[in-house]
Amino acid sequence: MRWERLGDGSDGPDAGGTTAALFGAGAVTRTFDAPEFRGITFHEVRARSIINRVPGASRLPFEWTVNPYRGCSHACVYCFARRSHAYLDLDTGIGFDTQIVVKTNAGRLLRRELSSPRWPGRHIAMGTNVDCYQRAEGRYRLMPEILAALRDHANPFSLLTKGTLILRDLDLLRSACAVAEVGVSVSVAFLDEELWRAVEPGAPAPGRRLEVVRALGEHGIGCGVLMAPVIPFLSDSPAQLRATVRAIAAAGATSVTPLALHLRPGAREWFTAWLARNHPGLVRPYEALYSEGAYAPRWYQRQITRQVHELAEEYGIGPSRPDAHRGAAPPRRAPGPEPGPEPGPTQLTLL
Ligand code: SF4
Repeated sequence: MRWERLGDGSDGPDAGGTTAALFGAGAVTRTFDAPEFRGITFHEVRARSIINRVPGASRLPFEWTVNPYRGCSHACVYCFARRSHAYLDLDTGIGFDTQIVVKTNAGRLLRRELSSPRWPGRHIAMGTNVDCYQRAEGRYRLMPEILAALRDHANPFSLLTKGTLILRDLDLLRSACAVAEVGVSVSVAFLDEELWRAVEPGAPAPGRRLEVVRALGEHGIGCGVLMAPVIPFLSDSPAQLRATVRAIAAAGATSVTPLALHLRPGAREWFTAWLARNHPGLVRPYEALYSEGAYAPRWYQRQITRQVHELAEEYGIGPSRPDAHRGAAPPRRAPGPEPGPEPGPTQLTLL
């Protein structure tokens, strides 16, 4: 695998156009299959750095990310982080779902990078390229150390997840909220359980995710919902959108943000193969809808956004209060040069 030859320039260009090792030489410390995680192989590695700068950040709502894992057992058919597995010479289909890279030193590394005088103290987004609360987190418990480091440095951050395991870390989240700006979002795109089993087979059911939204709110942590991806022809009927927004409102979400499915290379092939197997009659309509590239046409995106916003208003989901996740964040240090080498291409994924 690629990371076994890292450090010799063989890992290829990263998104910044330079060659950077993802992990240190001899980084893979252990590869094994755990009986309680049948079908999943863990690759434990020592990462070289953990705070990533997002390539092309100007187009994304965040610039810095932390991803303690690579690959995601939530196995969403549409996940566009799939391509990131190719940089490790791993399969972007089933391999992305079952070959999970675990950066076992993530928490310690983060604490060190946050302590660096070069770290500008900027917002860090998590859940952008992998779900930090996927099943592996139950075993590795990387997030408590990560959250504690962010809290101790009063560093602003946001988290996006489909995982119910986030509730394990309620106390840490609350203490972080008290000292820094923290945003928490859960991804729920539809309620249809048949569709959930088909396209998000490893993720908790939508109803359980909404329980997470409710529980977070009850513990004083305002939670938004990313309604993504809205899947054309499968989850975008007016009745489906209405039922979903109504349930999101009932769960007490502070906001709802719809995003239509997009199909970048890596995700596109995997999703199209799934579509051909399960909904062959939709292959042509998809080819037409995505004929321009990875994104659905603007008219479609606008239509979904308008419908969801109207429903959100009807059901009383307001825009997030600006102070919904905010604590008494202390002033930050002046920006300086970023730390460490970038660990590789990072992309926003639709959790
Ligand atoms: S979309 Fe998110 S939750 Fe689903 S497989 Fe990708 S990273 Fe995991």
